[in-house]
Amino acid sequence: MTRRRQIYEGKAKILYEGPEPGTLIQYFKDDATAFNAQKKGIINGKGVINNRISEHVFTLLAGIGIPTHFIKRLNMREQLVRQVEIVPIEVVVRNVVAGSLSKRLGIEEGTPLGRTILEYYYKDDALGDPMITDEHIACFGWASQEEMHEISDMAIRINDFMSGLFAAIGIRLVDFKLEFGRVWDNDYPRIILADEISPDGCRLWDMTSGEKLDKDRFRRDLGGEVEAYQEVARRLGLLPEEAEHEVLDLETHRKKRGK
Ligand code: UDP
Repeated sequence: MTRRRQIYEGKAKILYEGPEPGTLIQYFKDDATAFNAQKKGIINGKGVINNRISEHVFTLLAGIGIPTHFIKRLNMREQLVRQVEIVPIEVVVRNVVAGSLSKRLGIEEGTPLGRTILEYYYKDDALGDPMITDEHIACFGWASQEEMHEISDMAIRINDFMSGLFAAIGIRLVDFKLEFGRVWDNDYPRIILADEISPDGCRLWDMTSGEKLDKDRFRRDLGGEVEAYQEVARRLGLLPEEAEHEVLDLETHRKKRGK
């Protein structure tokens, strides 16, 4: 296979040039980082699971009319996506107090929120993704006011849909992070959902046991990361119980054959 041009390497994904102009290939790595990349590790098989989970969620979201960058999954670790101009804002949606919100305001983790909270962070690793408000976004021109309306409307719709999706499989959607991109249709900018939706960027708690089924297992050294991610995929119907090991075994097998 000819070597593809790498466009960008992030903490958990690599972007390659796509087969047609305006497309990219998004490759899911097993690398895990936390605390602004101060903690690094590998979660074997994570990329394969996140590729599948993200494909599933993006496809369902497209089904309810959310425009996304996802085109199709290509193989176990790669998906074809639309190239976007990324909006440099991480949108965090919260339903239950956890993580940085708990620390910042001294409210106990697990406290349900009376209303959904949207937070914005400026995407800048060197600055440690500082929290920002609409005022900063408008002042520095990171997105227009109309775009921020679209983004916040979509974030709320995505939250409503995903809360139901996970509740149906016994999982509480505590919080999650979204990223959006801009595409140009006939010189007219349009906002679409980009990046990924997976247990790397969501807090997912088992509704009965309270067990964490997300990246907090890695952040907090709880162990069992792959098993937790697999459990989410299995409950979503993406890994039939008997096949779940085979998927990863198949990949190991392919690697051994050098393919
Ligand atoms: N999140 C993320 N990437 C980030 C920061 C946060 O995906 O760079 C997700 C995180 O997984 C959680 C939610 O956004 O589901 C809220 O994270 P929080 O602000 O509590 O920060 P953390 O405790 O992860 O530092």
